[in-house]
Amino acid sequence: MKRSEWDKRIRRAVELGERFSYAAEVLAFYRQILALQNTIYQEISSPSLPDHKSSESFRERLDVDAALRHLPGLLALVEQRGPSKLAEQAKEIGGSTKDQQRQVIENFRLANDGERGPNAFFARVLLQPYAEHLASAEPAQPAGSAGSVCPICGARPQAAVLRPEGDGGKRFLLCSLCLTEWEFRRILCPTCGEGNYEKLPRYSAEDLAAVRVEACDTCHYYLKSIDLTVDGHAVPLVDEVATVPLDLWAAEHGYKKAEPNVMGF
Ligand SMILES: [Zn+2]
Ligand SMILES: [Zn+2]
Repeated sequence: MKRSEWDKRIRRAVELGERFSYAAEVLAFYRQILALQNTIYQEISSPSLPDHKSSESFRERLDVDAALRHLPGLLALVEQRGPSKLAEQAKEIGGSTKDQQRQVIENFRLANDGERGPNAFFARVLLQPYAEHLASAEPAQPAGSAGSVCPICGARPQAAVLRPEGDGGKRFLLCSLCLTEWEFRRILCPTCGEGNYEKLPRYSAEDLAAVRVEACDTCHYYLKSIDLTVDGHAVPLVDEVATVPLDLWAAEHGYKKAEPNVMGF
């Protein structure tokens, strides 16, 4: 069976959990979530995917039945190991009807960003592996396709990623749902389009050299960027979750995250 990126993410969560005591708890839980996502990914990537109608949008092709099959496992995990607020939600979803459970997934699958309802965590965890798998079959994006939402699934970016290129780095945005990366200008706010360098403060912490906050003083949103030219072992999805002190710094300075990560930060 093919090793997936999910394996790499799990290993990184273990490593960072050992390195940063402040993130140990959140990463211990996140690791379990990643392991479940890995199981889902392995299950859907082994047989070929069913043919879809070409009239269906990317979001419509996300498999709700597959997500629902793994919902009981996720609910049990969250009730046992998750933070209390999520554990309460898990209990409530577990006690609801099959139709209501399906609605939790559907609300997230087809909703516009920002209108996804309180149970988005559960739907996102379950749909993300499927979305990544579907996205991997999409044709590569032409260079310069540079919108502020994902060119494949339309979701907002989770983080920015700097990848080595020539003497410097090229900036990409990482999709919060299907995990596609697309190229994006370095000095530009993805939320409001501000391009004035002086309105775009950057902040990094001493012991987290590869990750920084990229904020915007025009819209007051921020995202984190993970610089792979500084740490080639970084795994953006996981490093983004692990660097909690940067989120605290941003919140103290009045910035909101454009797209909270799967752990809710
Ligand atoms: Zn996407
Ligand atoms: Zn902005």
